[in-house]
Amino acid sequence: MKEIQEYQKLAIKNATLILFSKYPEAAGVVYWILDCGCTKMCCVSEKGDPIGGRLLVSGQPMPDQDTIFVCHKCMVDRGPARERTVHQGVVWIQPLGKEHRKFISAKAFGPRSEAIGQAII
Ligand SMILES: [Zn+2]
Repeated sequence: MKEIQEYQKLAIKNATLILFSKYPEAAGVVYWILDCGCTKMCCVSEKGDPIGGRLLVSGQPMPDQDTIFVCHKCMVDRGPARERTVHQGVVWIQPLGKEHRKFISAKAFGPRSEAIGQAII
């Protein structure tokens, strides 16, 4: 998997704070960084279930304040885009044990995925 760029870390961090203020009961925020640079994010409960909808964070800088950048790939591809994922992980909000984290990661990414819990914040 590719290294996460600094600007992506910052975008994920900011989006996590927004999501957490909206869903304070969330155990963590799952993210998928896609090949276009965008990041899909979703809160998960302590049971590993998604909370709320998916949030798409653009990986492109805004041309100016009045323009919203729309990524064509992501506009066409509204699914989970697993085949375009270049990095995935969880930002943990609640202090959970290792086994509990593994359980939630497996539920979000599938049992064969790497157990990633990179500390972004
Ligand atoms: Zn995109």
